[in-house]
Amino acid sequence: MGGFFGTVHADNCCMNDLFYGTDYNSHLGTRRSGMTTYDSESKKFNRSIHSLENAYFRSKFEDELDKFKGNIGIGVISDTDPQPIIFNSHLGKFAIVTVAKIVNIDELEQEILSKKHHFAELSSGHTNPTELVGLLIIEGKDFVEGIENVYNKVKGSCSMLILTETGIIAARDKLGRTPIIIGKKEGAWALTSESTSLPNLGYDIEHYVGPGEIVEITAQQGMKQLRAANEEMQICSFLWIYYGFPTSNYEGKNVEEVRFAIGKQMGQKDDSEVDCTCGIPDSGTGMAMGYAEGKKVPYHRAIAKYTPTWPRSFTPSDQTRRRLVAKMKLIPNRAMMQGNRMLFCDDSIVRGTQLRDNTRDFYDYGAREVHMRISCPPLIYGCPFVNFTNSKNDMELITRRIIEKLEGDPNKNLEKYIDSDTPEYAQMVEEIRKQFGLTSLKFNTIDDLVTAIGLPKCRLCTHCFDGSSHY
Ligand code: SF4
Repeated sequence: MGGFFGTVHADNCCMNDLFYGTDYNSHLGTRRSGMTTYDSESKKFNRSIHSLENAYFRSKFEDELDKFKGNIGIGVISDTDPQPIIFNSHLGKFAIVTVAKIVNIDELEQEILSKKHHFAELSSGHTNPTELVGLLIIEGKDFVEGIENVYNKVKGSCSMLILTETGIIAARDKLGRTPIIIGKKEGAWALTSESTSLPNLGYDIEHYVGPGEIVEITAQQGMKQLRAANEEMQICSFLWIYYGFPTSNYEGKNVEEVRFAIGKQMGQKDDSEVDCTCGIPDSGTGMAMGYAEGKKVPYHRAIAKYTPTWPRSFTPSDQTRRRLVAKMKLIPNRAMMQGNRMLFCDDSIVRGTQLRDNTRDFYDYGAREVHMRISCPPLIYGCPFVNFTNSKNDMELITRRIIEKLEGDPNKNLEKYIDSDTPEYAQMVEEIRKQFGLTSLKFNTIDDLVTAIGLPKCRLCTHCFDGSSHY
């Protein structure tokens, strides 16, 4: 997905806030990071970009912080391309960072080339999506018209921060698929994908930028709306299930609170006999605590994450080592599992590779029974909007492989497998349970997920569960 952070200071250097605020988006991306500040004295943009594929954001940038000067800056943790990109254009000089997935990038690239424009950045031999967004903006007579050009042309999603010579412009995806939150403190503003970035730096949440809304923040005028929000919103429900840091809020709804509510609802309704519950770290933890309260069983930390060196995993290109990495970061605890009917909580099942390995380990470590509860409904569709599953096609999803086995066609009768009240749905879940050797398996329902988040269903994207959203 990726995340960004920007900050505008009235009369002091923004660097400390920019550095730590960007770092607090590190859980959202693993490939590239970058920061740019604008120094109004020298009239210069200072930029640095690093790979995150073998080290953390802070360790890459801390030796060069002194080179950044200025009161305004933007930073990004990206899952794809090198950013920020700096432009000199008829709109003035500006730097841009995006959180985007552009499904029709080839078509837009051809359109831009046919107008005799060119691309200067080639990331891994491909067009850099952030540069493409910048070129679409430059087609406008001003920033608002240029950003609307992006809204009209990009299929997928695109939120952005633009650092100009006077301030920062924030534009949230037209359907609000990804968030932007604005914080304020005495003498400074912050703009971020994750509200988790704000409290330790002294900011209070001031505004949740709406879908398609464009705001500009300068030290002189504060926050000014340049474009009103769209009526329709399709914020990604996976922000609460998986992506979000527990202390983050989107649309005023806290991630940990939602995960706890999901677990509690499932615990209250569940008639399975279990001895204790345990979360698969990290995103299953809040849910398992809620489940324990709802079911009135103890919460056991029967799996510990080796946090000293595995706060998050770098993804090796080698398949065998990738699988080993997934295993090494979590350590099951025999003392807490031995002889128990264990109920584990996890965020989702995509391909199921990890679940198969985990289940075998839990039995090996002495669990008498292994029950699994999943905080989201079965994933029936890949994500065309924020790159959640990273799948090239829907057939990588365990559900589709099972539907193919049951129906002879992975695309047949999907509506029956989406509806949790049908025999087909029950059969699909039973097939997954059997494949992984689980004692029992239950998924959350779409209705209960929506209730736990606390927004109307029509304001949420639930496309990967029911195919209900659109570009
Ligand atoms: S399809 Fe799923 S992962 Fe993608 S934006 Fe919608 S809810 Fe989020």
